[in-house]
Amino acid sequence: MSDALIRDVPKQLFIAGGWQDAESGRTLSVDNPATGEELCLVADASPADGGRAAEAAVAAQPAWAATPPRERSEILRRAYEIIISRTEELALLMTLEMGKPLAEARGEVAYAAEFFRWFAEEAVRIDGGMMTAPDGKNRILVTRRPVGPCLLITPWNFPLAMGTRKIGPAVAAGCTMVLKPAPQTPLSTLALAAILKEAGLPDGVLNVVVTSDAAGVVEPLLRGGHIRKLSFTGSTQVGRILLAQCADTVVRTSLELGGNAPLIVFDDADLDVAVEGTMVAKMRNMGESCCAANRIFVHTSIADEFAARLTARMAALTVGPGTEPGIDVGPLIDTAGRGKVDDLVRDAVKHGAKVLTGGELPDGPGNFYPPTVLTGVSTECAIMDTEIFGPVAAILTFDDEDEAVAAANDTDFGLAAYLFTQNLDRALRVSERLESGMIGLNTGLVSNPAAPFGGIKQSGLGREGGRVGIDGFLEYKYLAVPTGA
Ligand code: ADP
Repeated sequence: MSDALIRDVPKQLFIAGGWQDAESGRTLSVDNPATGEELCLVADASPADGGRAAEAAVAAQPAWAATPPRERSEILRRAYEIIISRTEELALLMTLEMGKPLAEARGEVAYAAEFFRWFAEEAVRIDGGMMTAPDGKNRILVTRRPVGPCLLITPWNFPLAMGTRKIGPAVAAGCTMVLKPAPQTPLSTLALAAILKEAGLPDGVLNVVVTSDAAGVVEPLLRGGHIRKLSFTGSTQVGRILLAQCADTVVRTSLELGGNAPLIVFDDADLDVAVEGTMVAKMRNMGESCCAANRIFVHTSIADEFAARLTARMAALTVGPGTEPGIDVGPLIDTAGRGKVDDLVRDAVKHGAKVLTGGELPDGPGNFYPPTVLTGVSTECAIMDTEIFGPVAAILTFDDEDEAVAAANDTDFGLAAYLFTQNLDRALRVSERLESGMIGLNTGLVSNPAAPFGGIKQSGLGREGGRVGIDGFLEYKYLAVPTGA
């Protein structure tokens, strides 16, 4: 099935509703992280191709903005149905290009599709308002309009869901788009574009440019004056660069950037729940998630017990190619990603951390890294302010609530946080004090299409998903009408 899937998936740029090679004829290689081997070649866009994609989006904008909301809703709904009906193919495609085990890839297909179902329902609920001004002289009519052509930039860790989380609200709002997926995982996005075309999305509404020259293709688009909105998910470092580029022409921005999630286990936690929640918060997607628990703070009185239980669970996981049955942990995305994880573990050990399981690079092909538990992690370690993005649980201890909260907040980031306690007062008190856009209370999973996803501090601007997810793609327009009073 894999060979046929790779043979049939689109490998060209998707511009104005058609599939095209790059103008230069260049291609880039998409590799399987489980083997290091090439899966296929995909058209590699130059800035000129990016410009054509933007022109197509700009040309399609007026007619698309004028479509009835129900029509946009039904396109999303049809795309949702098609995605669900092709769960197996899409999951396998994602596993092949990204590495996650098939079971997780199936979970992502469902999660990704849900953004389309959710925004299909939101598309027909865009409302406005009318009121009389306090002095009685004017009627104030407020309507909502699409912001205009958008540039969407997605990362490789959730190739399908990061696309649908941005495309869904853009389609619902009536915006056209240029989407630039990560070069490591373009196939899921190209398959998604084909599905949207099949679902009836008009030509030019979505354009997909895959490129190995992200900086070269993106900067002229942001400075060109036609793109009205950037929605970016990726590193804080790149987010900062893009925010600066958006300044010139005051492009609206939504940024989902890096995290450094604290996970706090209090001495009154249910340890079974805490260990299970930590496994999810740490190991979902092999730890390659901006919501992954990066720093695990455990009350001193239960630290040994917690570490022993977590170590038993981590050591029992099966590592291998995500396409094989029974695999819990697939490869990391590339050798650079794995090298970074290895460096962070070595740095922690140098600072006195103890390795309870894992910690050694395996021999053989593929970017595999073993599930690893570190205890006695010093606050001097690079892990304290670096996203691990791998299957490494770094455990620190604390003695009281104030200390835990201060340590958790001692970071420039504020995306996700997790806390485990059975004490309701403490749960609410600590949640209120944690500087974080999202908090999991006695759970390791916060992502949900119906919830506002996003961070504070240097983790980003704006929210995706939930009732507010469409806001970033809409402007307010106010019409003043004298009452004659
Ligand atoms: P990661 O380290 O997880 O790959 P990045 O922030 O580098 O995160 O990448 C996220 C997305 O941003 C990818 O689609 C990538 O190609 C894109 N990207 C990286 N650098 C730039 C840049 N200078 N300008 C625009 N997009 C970029």
